[in-house]
Amino acid sequence: MKDDYSGINTLFLHAAGDQDPATGALSTPIYQVSTFHRDADNPSDYEYSRSANPTRDVLEEYIAKVEGGIRGYAFSSGMAAISTILFIFFPGDHILAGKDIYGGSYRILTQVFKQWQLEVDFVDITDIETVKKAVKPNTKAIFFEIVSNPFQKIADLKSILAICREKGLLSIIDNTFLPPYYCRPLELGADIVLHSATKFLNGHSDVVAGVAAAKDPVLAKKIGFMQNAVGAVLGPQDSWLLLRGLKTLGVRMERQEKSAQKIAPWLLEQSWVKKVYYPGLPGHPGKTLLENISTGYGAIITFEVTTSAVKNNLMQKLSLPAVAVSLGAVESILTHPATMSHASMPKAVREELGICDNLFRLSVGLEDPEDLVKDFLTAVES
Ligand SMILES: *Cc1c(COP(=O)(O)O)cnc(C)c1O
Repeated sequence: MKDDYSGINTLFLHAAGDQDPATGALSTPIYQVSTFHRDADNPSDYEYSRSANPTRDVLEEYIAKVEGGIRGYAFSSGMAAISTILFIFFPGDHILAGKDIYGGSYRILTQVFKQWQLEVDFVDITDIETVKKAVKPNTKAIFFEIVSNPFQKIADLKSILAICREKGLLSIIDNTFLPPYYCRPLELGADIVLHSATKFLNGHSDVVAGVAAAKDPVLAKKIGFMQNAVGAVLGPQDSWLLLRGLKTLGVRMERQEKSAQKIAPWLLEQSWVKKVYYPGLPGHPGKTLLENISTGYGAIITFEVTTSAVKNNLMQKLSLPAVAVSLGAVESILTHPATMSHASMPKAVREELGICDNLFRLSVGLEDPEDLVKDFLTAVES
């Protein structure tokens, strides 16, 4: 297939190849199979679906293409992607991680990989001097998110990549909040990019999946080895659903962002809202940094309400946004970080990060923004 498209929308639509080479089908066939007959005279690329499955292969090549990597990987969840990649390190290695990374990533580093004697320090990734100073002789990688969760602080990606180059560290970026439609860290020199594909990439609240991509052939091989060894791979049905979701990533992101651009300033004007964190808002401290590396601001708005009465109204009386964990779906989702996305963090750590009980994270979906606004007003005033 041709892959020299200049337009990102064309790429997202056609990166999976246009037709099934065997039948001409416009949709990738689902190879619901675990094992493959071995023909001694005519050996196939496929032996066993943990190692490689034709449907997953199409997805993995797609991910490599849209991220600008040489190889892509599909895992059974975002956490499976993260844990498999952490397994490439050895006991005694030190990882620097962003202070406000996803709660599950914090948990696996502090409670699981600690047993593996992987050392970890959490640093404010938006403070370049602190990051530099935290590098130790046994530091092997910096693991971070460009857009922090839930406060959407923006990391200075280019400066962190420069530190990694200077000190010989791997850069591992969880870019779940900033899909490749907007931002492709591998093209800027990052080593590994990964996503919880459960969120924007799939976008329909019907699959749990993780993807990753790498650029360097030696590193790519290491991750491939670990993917097969650990075995947390994505099944063929879910690979197919994810491929389907990815085809509309562009239109979804554009519409969801457009609505977020209307809702964020509206929230800012409400008397019951104390603070709004959205990188597309004028005055957001990371706006310019983000504009340097991303073509969009995303569709996640974090905001703090003034009282627990307002908090309770939002949690109980909204009819459009689902009150749930997760984000990046076609339907709007309102998350209460203290009891949901960041519940796996100890309360003291959470409070130090400023994740108070009146804080919400809204993932703006495809509803008409006017209806979302009306729904918020009705809930608050009830
Ligand atoms: C959801 C999420 C994960 C974990 O992904 P799962 O698919 O739920 O395992 C990791 N990182 C970020 C930023 C997330 O939002």
